[in-house]
Amino acid sequence: MPKKVCIMCHQELNSAATGAVRVKDDVVIRAIRSVKKVFRAAQNNELFVCQNDLEKHQEKRKRFEKEMLIISAIAVIIVILLSGLPALAGRFQLSVFMSSIFIAVLVILFAVVFRYAPAMEGTSRIAAKTTTVVRTVKNKKDKNKKAEKGRI
Ligand SMILES: [Zn+2]
Repeated sequence: MPKKVCIMCHQELNSAATGAVRVKDDVVIRAIRSVKKVFRAAQNNELFVCQNDLEKHQEKRKRFEKEMLIISAIAVIIVILLSGLPALAGRFQLSVFMSSIFIAVLVILFAVVFRYAPAMEGTSRIAAKTTTVVRTVKNKKDKNKKAEKGRI
């Protein structure tokens, strides 16, 4: 049987643990799994965020999303500087273009590897099932959303 493990504190959740939220299975997690499988290190644990870590994880996730935006922008700038500008001057070189794309992809990959915080499964389904903690986290999210709109 696969174990249920919290990705923040790495503790195993027992069956009585409430308010834990399952982590969404996404490209990055699947990639990590398949790499681990190759090295026969796959644990096939079910990944959760435990109740205590929900807030911490949401902050981490938000930070990650923000950083990915910035880093994608940096990657685009790298490509433009290294190959777009010379191309405008009529000196387009495929090799330079390819290597600038390569550098950009590397930059993004590094960011993902070191800063990754996976998404959690939709809170609506969990709210029906469980406790107030999830609901307060959700309220906070809504409040943040409102605040964001206010700033715009
Ligand atoms: Zn935890």
